Amino acid sequence: MSISRSRVTHLSCPRCGRDHDHRLPQNLCPCGSPLLVEYDLDGLSGQASRGSIASGPPNMWRYADLLPVADPARAVSLGEGLTPLLPAGELGRSIGLPGLMVKDEGPNPTGTFKARGASCGVTMAVQLGIRKVALPTAGNAGGAWACYGAAAGLDVLVAIPADAPVVNRLECELYGADVRLVDGLISDAGTLVAQEVERHGWFDVSTLKEPYRIEGKKTLGFEIAEQLGWRMPDAIVYPAGGGVGIIGIWRAVQQLRAIGWMQGDGPRLIVTQAQGCAPIVEAFEHGWEESRPWPDARTFAHGLRVPKALGDFLVLRAIRETGGTAIAVSDQEIARAMVDLGRSGISACPEGAATLAAASRLRERGDLNEDDRVVLINTGTSLKYPNAMARALAPDGVGEPAPPI
Ligand SMILES: *Cc1c(COP(=O)(O)O)cnc(C)c1O
Ligand SMILES: [Zn+2]
Repeated sequence: MSISRSRVTHLSCPRCGRDHDHRLPQNLCPCGSPLLVEYDLDGLSGQASRGSIASGPPNMWRYADLLPVADPARAVSLGEGLTPLLPAGELGRSIGLPGLMVKDEGPNPTGTFKARGASCGVTMAVQLGIRKVALPTAGNAGGAWACYGAAAGLDVLVAIPADAPVVNRLECELYGADVRLVDGLISDAGTLVAQEVERHGWFDVSTLKEPYRIEGKKTLGFEIAEQLGWRMPDAIVYPAGGGVGIIGIWRAVQQLRAIGWMQGDGPRLIVTQAQGCAPIVEAFEHGWEESRPWPDARTFAHGLRVPKALGDFLVLRAIRETGGTAIAVSDQEIARAMVDLGRSGISACPEGAATLAAASRLRERGDLNEDDRVVLINTGTSLKYPNAMARALAPDGVGEPAPPI
């Protein structure tokens, strides 16, 4: 299959600097680092225009010129992206940030921003002739890949810890994935995937182990720019698990700057994590280049329960290079923020709600100013989290979770 129409030149390793061939399926660099997708941006700046974006499709594939797909007509799309950027001035004023906005990812297919990564990842798997993909999940990634895989006619194997939320297992089954329940942690599910890859030729699409999820999530950054008239906000607050989304937004900012589409300064990139699992915050505070594995990771914001992310060093670079920061918030603050967002008409998952709790603390601490325009990334809908909703509504925010649905 031809990939001549994409502007991808190669894949690069941000750790050892080695280049890799984008025309072949690739996983990690032999040095263990995730790979980044590189484009001929000089060629692009002469040809594409911001005006042509506006007349593109009403989904994330409107940015096809800056995505790896060879033929945009063959993108595996279910309408992901171009989600609302909601003004939240009233809520913002209550925490001293009248310029607050929420990028609401709940309307995406499968209810979270994982749809962006899966749409791009599945599109590229098809383009590269891959027929079967496998990944471990303890949350929303499995459902997104199972759904897009089903739409593209791929076989999808999902390994899930037996104690993962029931709703995440059921959605994978609904989309027809080969679901393997693992009696153990997400790392044990990862081991099962590695065995299946080794023995039965599945292609490994675990978080950051293939290069194209980042590219899908990158569109979040393009959209924020477009929705604000190609001027970035002062800060973007992101709830980091594996950090794919924040690495993507960082790439988007770099690329928009390279092609001259962004007015003014780039945004400060701010990461929040839960106090019960905050390896990136710890590394940021200590000035480390990468994080240390977080022992006994705990939080009801499941998407943030990543004890050691493969791309942690990239997340830390993104924060430091943009003058951002990192902050941990408690489960109780997250629960409170879920309710506050709800009362403002925004259905927030716990991970998304963490960004409001973080913004509030950063304002108190003086890291955010009253006139800052701040975008919170609400990564998904509350509807996939019945237990978290029940917990947030308990009087002290730490009440007994409802029985699993
Ligand atoms: C996966 C997930 C996250 C974390 O995303 P990363 O890209 O792994 O940092 C945050 N929120 C939700 C709802 C998720 O599903
Ligand atoms: Zn390398």
